[in-house]
Amino acid sequence: MSTPADFEPMEKGFDLAQAIAEADRCLLCHDAPCSAGCPAETDPGRFIRKLRFKNITGAVRTIKHNNILGAACGVLCPTARLCEEKCSAIFKSQECPEGADRPIAIGKIQRFLVEYAWHQGIQVLEKGAPRPQKVAVVGSGPAGLSCAAELAKEGFGVTVFEARPEPGGVLRYGVVSYRCSQDFLNRELDDVRALGVEFKCNHPVNGQRDAEKLLAEGYSAVFLAPGLWQAASLKKQRPAIKGLWSSVDFLAALRDGRFAEMRDAVAGRTVAVIGGGSVAMDCIGAAARLDAADVYLVYRRSYAQMPAEPDERIEAQEAGVHFLLLNQPVDYVTDGGRISGLKLVRTRLGEADASGRRRPEAVEGSEWVLPADLVIEAIGNQAPDDSPAWYPRVKVNDRRLIEVDPDTGRTSVEGIFAGGDIVRGPALVVQAVQDGKVAARAIKDYLTQ
Ligand SMILES: Cc1cc2nc3c(=O)[nH]c(=O)nc-3n(C[C@H](O)[C@H](O)[C@H](O)COP(=O)(O)OP(=O)(O)OC[C@H]3O[C@@H](n4cnc5c(N)ncnc54)[C@H](O)[C@@H]3O)c2cc1C
Ligand code: SF4
Repeated sequence: MSTPADFEPMEKGFDLAQAIAEADRCLLCHDAPCSAGCPAETDPGRFIRKLRFKNITGAVRTIKHNNILGAACGVLCPTARLCEEKCSAIFKSQECPEGADRPIAIGKIQRFLVEYAWHQGIQVLEKGAPRPQKVAVVGSGPAGLSCAAELAKEGFGVTVFEARPEPGGVLRYGVVSYRCSQDFLNRELDDVRALGVEFKCNHPVNGQRDAEKLLAEGYSAVFLAPGLWQAASLKKQRPAIKGLWSSVDFLAALRDGRFAEMRDAVAGRTVAVIGGGSVAMDCIGAAARLDAADVYLVYRRSYAQMPAEPDERIEAQEAGVHFLLLNQPVDYVTDGGRISGLKLVRTRLGEADASGRRRPEAVEGSEWVLPADLVIEAIGNQAPDDSPAWYPRVKVNDRRLIEVDPDTGRTSVEGIFAGGDIVRGPALVVQAVQDGKVAARAIKDYLTQ
């Protein structure tokens, strides 16, 4: 039987000997292609070289100066398609396009170095000399934290406004705890707090023009990073059916410490998770750990088209999850106000759509019902319907995503910048970190020129 204790632990990271042995495999390429593969300029070529020469403080300094969420990224980045994909140690060639060896485990080395610094009390970041201007950051996810830390290093006063009780965004209320635990996240947040960043939690900035009013309230610039927290549903409005969850509510309940309640709801039951991305993978992994009798992943395209990372898909299969591919959910089946099944229609793949993937087409007359006690919808998150009202002069597109200059994060309103998922749509932690850095540089230029 699962307990919170065996739900919680993260996989153990490298120890010193493992990290050094792995760094010793590095070919010390002159042009460090791995560094070019990192969206946040964390510069693995440089920090691995420093570790290789036993300069641990220098290695940690490289990471933390470039990426305030170095530990979280070390754990969560899909490295196989970022830095590690570019690693020369793979020895890719014409005869062997898949590569003849494995890449250096960059993410694991990165996580080790940051954790080692925490344990050894190595401090590598300093507050900048104080400047008179204050900046407001809306949202404490990776984009907000990164922007806040960069500005604090430059000496600006930074206040982060967060709607939820604790900071961290998806890292706190989304990603499952066995991938990024509360303690791990809190330790990384301490590095942000040590720079003097002030957090105002339980403080949503979501009234009419509230985000724009911050400029009139004494903040010289505003960085908008509220992410995407409105979960999409099969229906225009998710009906109130017992046993029907959004991925946002399901994962946040686990992170809110409602483990026993969630276990009671899931254990011994049949759970169907709709979706094919990383969020769906977190939901099926959590449901399996909560002792569901059967977990089904329902996805309307094929295995090869799933957006989830290959290792996540393999892990799910190893956990015994049933993959129901080429099946499109069309309706819920209920019994006395409770979910009792999911109505599906089989699909076949047609021509490629705008995403470049072959479009799933319903097979006429193939409807069937998958019996299920719980259904979790993990089919994407979007900006809340009312979010444009928080910043009515800021230009948004038809998906309510904020439009910015990609080189600066500037919005259509002077003094207001934005980044992270609210600009890109659902993306990655490391990309949100980079957006925060880019905007912080532009905010500094804006306030000092
Ligand atoms: C379940 C899940 C698993 C994921 N797994 C991975 C992974 O393994 N690897 C990876 O790279 N990426 C992963 N991602 C994507 C990644 O987490 C996001 O791209 C990233 O968190 C975006 O950062 P952000 O700062 O833009 O927004 P968020 O992390 O969403 O943070 C936004 C913050 O703003 C707050 N907020 C919202 N509205 C307001 C308001 N009006 N006023 C004040 N505060 C507000 C929210 O409460 C939240 O704390 C995952 C996403 C999800 C949902
Ligand atoms: S931040 Fe992520 S992508 Fe960048 S070097 Fe580190 S693990 Fe690789």
